[in-house]
Amino acid sequence: MLSRLTIGRICWELAAQCKSWTGLVAYNRPAGARHSRPFTTDASNVRHLTQNNLDHFLQSYDTFMLDCDGTLYGTDHVTEIPNVPEAIYKLRTIGKHLLFVTNNSMHSNERYVNKFKEVGFEANESDIFGVANAAAVYLRHIAKVEGKVYVVGGQGMKQELDKYRLESFGAGPDPDQASWDPKQLLQMEFRDNVQAVLVGFDEHFHYNKIFKALSYLRDPKCLYVATNVVETAVKIGSGRVQPTTGALIQAISVPAKREPLVVGKPGTLLLDCIRHKHPDIDLSRTVFIGDGLRSDIAFANNIGVDSVLVLTGSGALDKIDGPDVKPTYVMDSFELFSKI
Ligand SMILES: [Mg+2]
Repeated sequence: MLSRLTIGRICWELAAQCKSWTGLVAYNRPAGARHSRPFTTDASNVRHLTQNNLDHFLQSYDTFMLDCDGTLYGTDHVTEIPNVPEAIYKLRTIGKHLLFVTNNSMHSNERYVNKFKEVGFEANESDIFGVANAAAVYLRHIAKVEGKVYVVGGQGMKQELDKYRLESFGAGPDPDQASWDPKQLLQMEFRDNVQAVLVGFDEHFHYNKIFKALSYLRDPKCLYVATNVVETAVKIGSGRVQPTTGALIQAISVPAKREPLVVGKPGTLLLDCIRHKHPDIDLSRTVFIGDGLRSDIAFANNIGVDSVLVLTGSGALDKIDGPDVKPTYVMDSFELFSKI
């Protein structure tokens, strides 16, 4: 259970970030809020992390929060990033505490344990913070949902909801036949006491699911929760662009005329999940390493920790052009830590 103090802080933050529970989520803290830091608008003074300044960097931090897709393995989940297992091993050998913080909603935390083994390293489930897990923690312990959850997402999300004894339905392929016909749409099954619609990545995303989500969200008391929104598409090959979770959420948010509460990066709810399991983390001795400017680096800025943009994924130095996305360092690859 989350402590009353933690829940109070979460509520304070949500109140600061939301126009209302069903209103627009502001992803970054208001100016002057805790942990905010000054930004510059160009990349000219971002330090390049290399072997030359690695010792000083390593002496500065005890806790390493690591993004996964594009940082520890390719954004396609297939492409290998060289020497990542060796880098993980070396960091642990010198006493660094590694936490894995990912916006990928496809997998349960248990699945990540196995995924990491496939990549070549091990991690305890207590050190893994996936957004599917975070969404379940939010719905159970903060929103205190007692009724059903309609899931637009996959089995990983359902497994996390099951773990927290939340009754859910909708994960996987929609059971009804596709139709544009209002008469057939009206014959589709709708369940009572649906208290939340939860949307994450869903390879079975379907017209029927939009129809059902919109219909449940007509009830203003039905919560609208999303795992992550900033990732909308990723280039996967020459002339090929894959839509990702943010695109699916937009397809529901626009016709619903509602914005979701977002549990993933760059929102700060994930930090509360991390502190629930690791209350002694010293943020002044913590660094976040990831490939996403709008997710990873913005998250680091929002929680007040230093950051490293790694260039093996979606991030790129020439994209550091906004006032809120400047990392502390840039590094070519996580492989650098294998040379400790
Ligand atoms: Mg990433």
